[in-house]
Amino acid sequence: MSALSAVRIVIVGAGPAGYFAAQALLNQEDKPVLVDMIEKLPTPWGLVRSGVAPDHPKIRTVSKVFEKISEDPRFRLMANVEIGKDVTVAQLQDAYDAVVFASGADLGRTLGIPGEDLPGAMTAAEFVPWYNAHPDFADFKVNLSGKRAIVIGAGNVAMDVGRLLAVEPEELASTDISDIALEVIRAGNITDVTIVARRGPEHAAFTSPELRDLLELEHTNVVVSSADVNAAHTRLESWEVIPKDVRQNMEAFTKLTTDAPTGNRRTLEIKFFLAPLKIIGTNHVEAVRFAVNGIRGTDVVATGEEVTFPADLVVSAVGYTSEGIDGLPLERGKVRNLDGRVQDETGAHIPGMYVVGWAKRGPSGVIGTNKSDATQVMERLLEDLGTGSGVPRNGITPPPHAIDLAGWKLINEREIARGGETRPRVKFPIRTELIQNAR
Ligand code: NAP
Repeated sequence: MSALSAVRIVIVGAGPAGYFAAQALLNQEDKPVLVDMIEKLPTPWGLVRSGVAPDHPKIRTVSKVFEKISEDPRFRLMANVEIGKDVTVAQLQDAYDAVVFASGADLGRTLGIPGEDLPGAMTAAEFVPWYNAHPDFADFKVNLSGKRAIVIGAGNVAMDVGRLLAVEPEELASTDISDIALEVIRAGNITDVTIVARRGPEHAAFTSPELRDLLELEHTNVVVSSADVNAAHTRLESWEVIPKDVRQNMEAFTKLTTDAPTGNRRTLEIKFFLAPLKIIGTNHVEAVRFAVNGIRGTDVVATGEEVTFPADLVVSAVGYTSEGIDGLPLERGKVRNLDGRVQDETGAHIPGMYVVGWAKRGPSGVIGTNKSDATQVMERLLEDLGTGSGVPRNGITPPPHAIDLAGWKLINEREIARGGETRPRVKFPIRTELIQNAR
């Protein structure tokens, strides 16, 4: 294949969606392609590096797939390169046959209730990258000196955050958690963690493997009220169809009411039907007030009752949104698109512009969801390109500070070496350190 006849495609964002898009392009045989990947951080892998919980190392093994994709000679990584600062969207449009945005959704949705700005209250979009050594959060301050933490939301991110706060710190010492976070967690006093859902067990967004995992905790009691679970089973009797994920979650909840660990100093509790109203505190979080919800027919409604629980830390894990990228139309936290084709304000496809992953669909789905999704969008892209514009594209010249695959491999090897015999890796938490170690 000659580089001249190949179509040049640039992917913006080196997370799972970006890599799966690259894989789909490189694996097809209809059209010769050259793929560049631009990433604003000095390191690739997106949420696989800075989202996945450190005590879930199996989920991180998908990085092996990303490593394999990166070895393809038609693939080029340019990390530490930022759109809007180092290169503009318009320049990418000029330099490539197609631009694929895989830029994710990295801002935490807020609750829109009073007290969210109090010290001690934060979103999972801050807390999670902090414990995963994301360089933008190296200076983020987390105070774990109190005893009680409340995590708001009933999805897998709330579960990760709740579990991480509730396990014995030494259980994290053999993981790739940030050293900064590990030190704060070790010195901290959190022993009582409550995950709070605004609806019932049958509505929870957790997935059942994550719920079943709680049965394996060695040093943490898990409390789920059997009254809540039994009431949900009763309600389900009137459902015409019980979706498989609800059935599996209910099985896991039921097991948790009987077989969950007990007798430990630490507790992780899941409470239901409580909608946050206000985070209370003078100079720091002290409590959270909730509206007590109930069920009327099939609707979740406020009962008019309120309860207040003391809290020293509040993490809201109620989904993500995005600020967007200059030059890209944004709609409700997603890049405006139809089936991955980026649209302008009139709804017309902007030629050569595509979007995959959370930037396309919003923040839902597990890592694997991005594979089928990105593959479909890349099929559309190749179809649209047809025989190409005929104008040869040269791609961009990486700026001098760009980190290429060789640079990333140095960071990777050095982090793994720092992990020694006991940890998978010890991440460099500071951006300048990452950059130095790429040389
Ligand atoms: P999610 O699954 O969409 O869950 C968000 C939760 O926040 C829901 O329980 C939602 O309740 C609740 N919520 C929203 N607004 C709220 C409000 N104002 N007050 C109280 N609760 C509110 O989102 P996520 O946990 O951020 O996860 C994002 C995606 O990543 C999911 O697809 C998840 O499965 C995936 N993920 C997977 C793993 C894993 O596989 N181990 C780990 C982490 C994340 P309602 O349902 O009532 O709206």
